Amino acid sequence: MAKCPYDGTEVPNPTKTWVMIGKPLGGKRVKLTNGIFHCPTCGKNFRAVIKKEILPA
Ligand SMILES: [Zn+2]
Repeated sequence: MAKCPYDGTEVPNPTKTWVMIGKPLGGKRVKLTNGIFHCPTCGKNFRAVIKKEILPA
């Protein structure tokens, strides 16, 4: 679930997701699950972070 930055529509499902794992920093690394969402109201695509996790490095 993500909110369209253009008109505030809540879009329940991403059309594409991917995971990004950051470089270790201070004994931790950040794992981000990103998604591309398509807004049915304005027809635009936008990117949003779905989940953010802190992992031990
Ligand atoms: Zn929109």
